[in-house]
Amino acid sequence: MVFRQLFDTTSSTFTYLLADEKSREAILIDPVFGQTNRDLALLRELDLTLKLAVDTHAHADHITAAWLLKEKTGCQIASAKVINAKHVDLPLEDGQKFGVQGVTLTALSTPGHTDGCMSFVTEDRSMVFTGDTLLIRGCGRSDFQQGSAHRLFASITEKLFTLPDQCKVYPAHDYNGRTMSTIGEEKAYNARVGAGANETDFVQYMMAMRLPHPKMIDEAVPANLRSGEPQDGHMPHVPNWGDVQITYAGVPEIDAIWLEQHRSEVRVLDVRLENEAKDCAIAPTLVDQHIALDVLRDRLDEIPKDKPIVTVCRSGRRSALAANILEQAGFEKVASLSKGLNQFQ
Ligand code: FE
Repeated sequence: MVFRQLFDTTSSTFTYLLADEKSREAILIDPVFGQTNRDLALLRELDLTLKLAVDTHAHADHITAAWLLKEKTGCQIASAKVINAKHVDLPLEDGQKFGVQGVTLTALSTPGHTDGCMSFVTEDRSMVFTGDTLLIRGCGRSDFQQGSAHRLFASITEKLFTLPDQCKVYPAHDYNGRTMSTIGEEKAYNARVGAGANETDFVQYMMAMRLPHPKMIDEAVPANLRSGEPQDGHMPHVPNWGDVQITYAGVPEIDAIWLEQHRSEVRVLDVRLENEAKDCAIAPTLVDQHIALDVLRDRLDEIPKDKPIVTVCRSGRRSALAANILEQAGFEKVASLSKGLNQFQ
């Protein structure tokens, strides 16, 4: 199985990519709206087809990317039936098996943090995606969104703790740089439910916590009940001046075919060394301006802003950094020529 753990630094949310190596069909668990470009770039670069976007619950701290991913890829959306979120194609119930070709998950109803919380277990029971039900050495709060410490205790101890001890635990969040745990480890060391804590221990602990009102709850929960469909039309930024693809490395790129077709609409900036540019046969016809990468930051004011800038170099590595430098300097329409000038020779 192809497996990636992704992290959103704003909300400390983990997004998980699971895909089958043969069919190339993929699932994203808990995708974050603002990270949609990143996730689509990874799918593209790994040659995967997104078939399913799944949420473990109606999040209060970030907006799901489920709706946007469906718009962009045609994937289906799954989440717990009890949430009754708009745009859901696959409402999940306790014990239901679902997935894509080659990757099957079982949905376990694990309420308590919210009443619609689910955990997802792989077929071999070697991995469980616990959402906010079980976190590493902790658990989700139970003081809002129909939360209940009693139900959360039952979900963790009667459902999740019956999984094999070696089963790896992948939560929806971590705020301390931890990435995974195991059921055995959490049974022993979880700060709230570990070491044989009983329901009274747990409920008293949860009641004694005084947690601040979540910052995004008033915005995130209503949006997530629409599977993340924005009401204000606000979308993650995608350049629209050309056929720009943002790579997983965060570089805006444009390909040679587009460049040839739109040559007069852009300014081509060669960032190779002087002698490389001089010896290159195609450069004089293709390039408008030459500023080597190592002096680019000092010569930004020589670059006119009348047209979008396409940076070029030999392989597309240096021009990628050049594009990022220009973006940081406030150039809004910038892309690097993917695969570089090499491809013309
Ligand atoms: Fe949550």
